[in-house]
Amino acid sequence: AQGTAALRARAEIDLAAVRANVRTLRGLAPGAELMAVLKADGYGHGAVPCARAAVAAGATWLGTATPEEALALRATAGLPDDVRIMCWLWTPGGPWREAIDAGLDVSASGMWALDEVTRAARGADRPARVQLKADTGLGRGGCQPGEDWSALVAAARRAEAEGLLRVTGLWSHFACADEPGHPSITAQLTRFREMTAYAERQGVRPEVRHIANSPATLTLPGSHYDLVRPGVAMYGLSPSPELGTPADFGLRPVMTLSASLALVKHVPGGHGVGYGHRYTTPGATTLGLVPLGYADGIPRHASSSGPVLVDGKWRTVAGRIAMDQFVVDLGGDEPAPGTEAVLFGPGDRGEPTAEDWAQAAGTIGYEIVTRIGSRVPRVYT
Ligand code: PLP
Repeated sequence: AQGTAALRARAEIDLAAVRANVRTLRGLAPGAELMAVLKADGYGHGAVPCARAAVAAGATWLGTATPEEALALRATAGLPDDVRIMCWLWTPGGPWREAIDAGLDVSASGMWALDEVTRAARGADRPARVQLKADTGLGRGGCQPGEDWSALVAAARRAEAEGLLRVTGLWSHFACADEPGHPSITAQLTRFREMTAYAERQGVRPEVRHIANSPATLTLPGSHYDLVRPGVAMYGLSPSPELGTPADFGLRPVMTLSASLALVKHVPGGHGVGYGHRYTTPGATTLGLVPLGYADGIPRHASSSGPVLVDGKWRTVAGRIAMDQFVVDLGGDEPAPGTEAVLFGPGDRGEPTAEDWAQAAGTIGYEIVTRIGSRVPRVYT
């Protein structure tokens, strides 16, 4: 569209691809519900439109990190009340009473969280929905097995008996699900089975038990339990190149990032380019100015390596990526100003992918899409 072409830069978000990816993931976990993970503004894709697309394709739960993200979704996405929203990042002094009033599911990894949420539930109109998180081996959030878990389960049961909360879920998170055959995978599954069974022996009746992120949803059917929690796969990226490409799993990348060339000019050989002159033109050539920089989330670590499609050819970032712009060597070609420079997309027009940028920057595809800044308009198609 003309309006889109006139934008300095844009991240096109293919909501049909979100819907198709959610259907594909549901097909891989037919016995489980699907929680669409929408934290960090839907991994940079826009939480509200992606939430609506995911629900339209059959997601019955939405997941966020912070309670603020979850409250914003509940308030603005206009979703049916029976779509559950869970947030898992507990911090002291958070908006727990608002979370209870909004019917969110909150996570408790230990007594600090459980006590504070229980206090917030006193005087509320409804019991808090709390999901107990087990550290089955990630070594990050979650309650340690053994005495800590017994104490947490016992305290949760007491608060349930008082009518202050309801334990709606038992859950955990993998450390190495993207490394097929890693011994921690079976160890975590065994511990999860033991910890959930213990809680259930103490009378906990969870609605859902869950541990599967994207790689587990894609490759570990034995981990699906009652619900799967894919994030990156819903946005059409593979959790890791070792596991396969998005196409291997029938997934389609959702975001296409492009910009309009802001300048094309002739320069002689031996011309230094950009801050620090980290690139020098090998001979007379043309340079194109791409109006995107690290303030827009383009990783500075991809200086001299990030790929860009211009007029059907892959070009490489020439020199350093600056805050708002970077340069590509166009090798003498003279595309008209405004010609589209595509940084990444699904790849089927020959453009690079977010994974190509991840490799260029020494990071993961997750970070590439999530960091695309708020200055880049999202255009929904
Ligand atoms: N579950 C939790 C608790 C998470 O923090 C995340 C994101 O890291 C996910 C699920 C989704 O992970 P992935 O994007 O690998 O599917």
